[in-house]
Amino acid sequence: MARFRCPACGQKGDFVYQAGRHECPRCGSTDVQFALGIEELPDEFVEMLLRAERLDDETDETSED
Ligand SMILES: [Zn+2]
Repeated sequence: MARFRCPACGQKGDFVYQAGRHECPRCGSTDVQFALGIEELPDEFVEMLLRAERLDDETDETSED
């Protein structure tokens, strides 16, 4: 289970997370915010996040020039 909060329709609650689905389960808005336990995320998604963080660090260093 995961939690969602949607600014579009104002709904919040629990839902069953489905990989690849990033829309409000009530209204379908992509503005929805999910709160997932990290153990519920697919491994490749976690890796993607970690890789993105590393890229951010690198751009911070080079952008000071
Ligand atoms: Zn919604």
